[in-house]
Amino acid sequence: MDTYYVTKESVCPRCEGRKVIQEPIWKDYWDFANAFKSQNGRLPSRDEDRGWWTDAGYFDWETVGQGGVPPEECECPDCEGTGVKIEKVDLMDALRDALHCGHPLAWLLPENQGELR
Ligand SMILES: [Zn+2]
Repeated sequence: MDTYYVTKESVCPRCEGRKVIQEPIWKDYWDFANAFKSQNGRLPSRDEDRGWWTDAGYFDWETVGQGGVPPEECECPDCEGTGVKIEKVDLMDALRDALHCGHPLAWLLPENQGELR
């Protein structure tokens, strides 16, 4: 017997459909900046955070992508910027998922045919 597959599209769980995610280094940066703020009552100035970026391996005088500080948001790597998660799903699993119990067409599922007829 052949196996049939369908394509399942759902909202990308990583970016929640936003198509972009925060560049991970920026999360670390905000941890640093907020710690700085609770100590000093203000966010670090550009001169003050330059050292942090340098320690992290990014240099604000360099070009983005060649050592420079990356943009805060980048394309979601899980969905490649589409915001949609696409999976190959076995047709029967897809039917089971779509026609869960209580759906008017639930009788289509082989396991329901005994009891519902
Ligand atoms: Zn995504």
